[in-house]
Amino acid sequence: MPRPHHSTRAETRWAVRIIPLFIVAILGVATYSVVARLCIDYLYNEKHQSGVVTAFLVLYFLFFLLMAAAYLRTFFTTQLNPGLVPLPPREQTEREAAEKLRKRRHKRNRDVEESAYTPPDPNPDSPGLEAFYSKDVFVCEVDGRPKWCSECQQWKPDRSHHSSDLGRCVRKMDHFCPWVGGMVSETSFNFFTQFCFYTGLFCAVNLAVGAYSFRQHQQDGDPTDGWALAVIVLACVFGTFTFGMALTSIRFIFLNTTNVDMLKRSNVVVLAVRIPLSTPPSIKYPVIVYPLRGPPHRPGSDGQPPSSQYGTVSARDQQAERKFAILRTKPRENPWNLGLRENWKSIMGDNIIEWLLPIRHSPCCNHESMESDYKLGPLISRLRKRYGAPELETPTRSGHAIELQDRTGRRASD
Ligand SMILES: [Zn+2]
Repeated sequence: MPRPHHSTRAETRWAVRIIPLFIVAILGVATYSVVARLCIDYLYNEKHQSGVVTAFLVLYFLFFLLMAAAYLRTFFTTQLNPGLVPLPPREQTEREAAEKLRKRRHKRNRDVEESAYTPPDPNPDSPGLEAFYSKDVFVCEVDGRPKWCSECQQWKPDRSHHSSDLGRCVRKMDHFCPWVGGMVSETSFNFFTQFCFYTGLFCAVNLAVGAYSFRQHQQDGDPTDGWALAVIVLACVFGTFTFGMALTSIRFIFLNTTNVDMLKRSNVVVLAVRIPLSTPPSIKYPVIVYPLRGPPHRPGSDGQPPSSQYGTVSARDQQAERKFAILRTKPRENPWNLGLRENWKSIMGDNIIEWLLPIRHSPCCNHESMESDYKLGPLISRLRKRYGAPELETPTRSGHAIELQDRTGRRASD
């Protein structure tokens, strides 16, 4: 059973505990006023409008169930599987020391950006590095090494960001939402969108019942009904909020972006894009060759292994080498934009059942592809052309397997 991941902030932990009770209370009031007071007592018993009441009740409970299912799925996903980047394997003592340091820093300074910066691990064999260069494209810094999280002291996978709420890096982090109990990220964004969408529709049904009853009272010359008025006001407030959230989320899905990406979209994205090992040096882009050797690599070098300086490189090691061009996008270019249809499918799933029901995690949660962490769009080919970086001539998986095996063999013999 996975352990729940709670926020490191006391006030957020309290909000996460109190808000579900608040939601239950609101739903209790809604059900009492809409079902008992307006539909049964007024429209059915007083007005004898059984057809209208049946239609209202079917819609009410349909969207209630869909909303509750999406809410529970989102809530438990944010608690049990918020998409945290696993910490690198460390010795027990080292891990405890790192954890202590992380907590101390977090206490001292809540703002990650301002806390003391720990430089990236200079070790060429740094744990976790291989997971990046065994793919064909990954997000990197200008020196060609992956991004580094100073707080977690580990390399950050593509599209992951450090959450100061959870004190950990989160994959495709979107935002921390106390309404659904925690971090909305790649594991829960589809469920969260369904929740907002169904809550919007649920509010629309409530509004319809409230407005219909209100009009009936007016037509009959009765005094204004307090319950109908309260339902209209509550449905408008919650409906506007959740429908707005649903529309924003749907827009983000079609654009394959997140709240965090939107904040940074004027920044360029630097990518390490694999090129053939035989590619001659170019003045248009720096390159980096993995596995790294000796001291940290400096950008702008020709990418040839510094064999004369740091010992001879064996023929087998050379075969296992992978060369990457360090390419920069323009501001607002999104390397993960696959087109509207594929963007939607990568988050909401392949078929309409998955789009409508909170049953499966997004396909983009699967990071097994050897091409990149997240499926890349046509921008990568355009970038290669823009910089004159050649395509890989043999994209065969068998060649790849030989390389990996080779490197593993080398490591085992180290
Ligand atoms: Zn982190």
